Amino acid sequence: MDATTTADSLPPPRREVRLTKKAFLDLAIWMGGFGILVGVVFPYMAVLVGTPAQRALSLEFFCTSMTAGVVVGVVNFGLARYVVGARISDLSMRMRYVGQALLNASKTGDWSNCSADTCQIAVTSEDELGEVAASFNSLLSALEMTQQLERSTATVTHALSERLELAGLVETTLDQYLAQTGATGGCVLVSREGELSVAESRNVECSEMALSSLVVQAQRSRLVHNIEVPEDLSIEAAVVSFRPRQVVMVPIWLGNTLLGAVLLASGTKLGENALRLLESFQAPTAVALNNALTHERFQRLAAIDPLTDAYNRRFGINRLAEELSRARRTVTALGILSFDIDHFKLVNDNHGHLAGDRVLRAVAGAARSVIRTGDVLIRTGGEEFLVVLPGAAGKDVRAIGEAIRKAVGASKVLAGQGEVSVTVSLGGVFYPGIGDDTPEELMAAADEALYESKHLGRDRLTIHASVALTGS
Ligand code: GH3
Ligand code: MG
Ligand code: MG
Repeated sequence: MDATTTADSLPPPRREVRLTKKAFLDLAIWMGGFGILVGVVFPYMAVLVGTPAQRALSLEFFCTSMTAGVVVGVVNFGLARYVVGARISDLSMRMRYVGQALLNASKTGDWSNCSADTCQIAVTSEDELGEVAASFNSLLSALEMTQQLERSTATVTHALSERLELAGLVETTLDQYLAQTGATGGCVLVSREGELSVAESRNVECSEMALSSLVVQAQRSRLVHNIEVPEDLSIEAAVVSFRPRQVVMVPIWLGNTLLGAVLLASGTKLGENALRLLESFQAPTAVALNNALTHERFQRLAAIDPLTDAYNRRFGINRLAEELSRARRTVTALGILSFDIDHFKLVNDNHGHLAGDRVLRAVAGAARSVIRTGDVLIRTGGEEFLVVLPGAAGKDVRAIGEAIRKAVGASKVLAGQGEVSVTVSLGGVFYPGIGDDTPEELMAAADEALYESKHLGRDRLTIHASVALTGS
């Protein structure tokens, strides 16, 4: 077959005269017939070259020449069978072996006995037989590639389907993408409310500048594509940092929604196979990412108080317990502040419930503006809040408590023609300090200190007596 032949230009099968169902039997008949023909024609040719006709056209001469013709035909047939037949039968035997091995592999799922290396047929001639062997080998490689694609996709789909939490999912996604393609590093971008941000990265720094150009490229295309290596994108290897040879963007779409993108960077060129693998990973990644984002949304709905955006009581107390056991494990401090709006009932009575809600929101906002990332703001009741301060002991608890008190005092909320301003009373405590230091005990101590503040005239912070003199 011509090397440039394509499926579109494939010629129709050649018409041939078949005598029997076996090619070598056909050949034997043709050769025997040709021998008889030569035997018949030969006496006349002998006459032409001067043999006396009486002798050449005698019965003996005819018989001898026909016998010779048939013998040549039979010997030719034997030679053809020996030279070509042996190679064809070798080829067919190997094909049968490979066919059986493929059948077994498809049944057991174990392809180790029939990889492209073990099942390939040696191409030993530059003729049609060589072409048959070469075509068979390419068929085998294509099959092996499809199998590999299927296996890798199944592995990735399985790994992703086991992760529901977003943090775990993006980690597994990147692990799998790197392992399956051999890329050196990469990052996973996740879209929340239309904004793409880096959720996970490995060996590369996906900087803000690189991101903005990547985001545009992800939004434009649904296909896995090579992208221009951004100026400031580099791979951090163990000791050196270098610019990658190839950067691939895998946009993750679900229907018409861009859920995120995976960016892979490689120190060496990724092959065609790797790109094909990435295409087949797109759909399972989209499904898993969508599940994780939905889960995160539900978790948030279940954990967040919609009025103040602070954690609700149930979730907040769990967080307090978690932070407390972490503090115990890591032998670090944990501060707790409880606060309550002073005379809040009057706000409702004088300005209405809606103004009261706005004040609640403003108080939560003021507290959030002074606490650190990692601190946890909880709305424990109507106008009561709790702040968990990991790592904070005496001095820090005092400083943050005072900062909250001042921030709330300074914030103003519009109500009718005027402005409302409220104050808060706070109580503080910290671990390690009191008794058994259970979450309930710590909360009760913070509340006790809070009531002390109320008792002393409100708009103030009191540190619980049991720890007031400890922790600097
Ligand atoms: P104190 O200084 O002693 O804390 O006085 P207070 O008026 O703040 O305390 P009290 O417990 O008497 O009143 C709390 C008020 O908070 C009563 C309740 O109507 C109001 N409240 C609780 N939850 C909400 C809410 O979600 N929205 C609004 N607007 N008011 C609320
Ligand atoms: Mg109260
Ligand atoms: Mg109150």
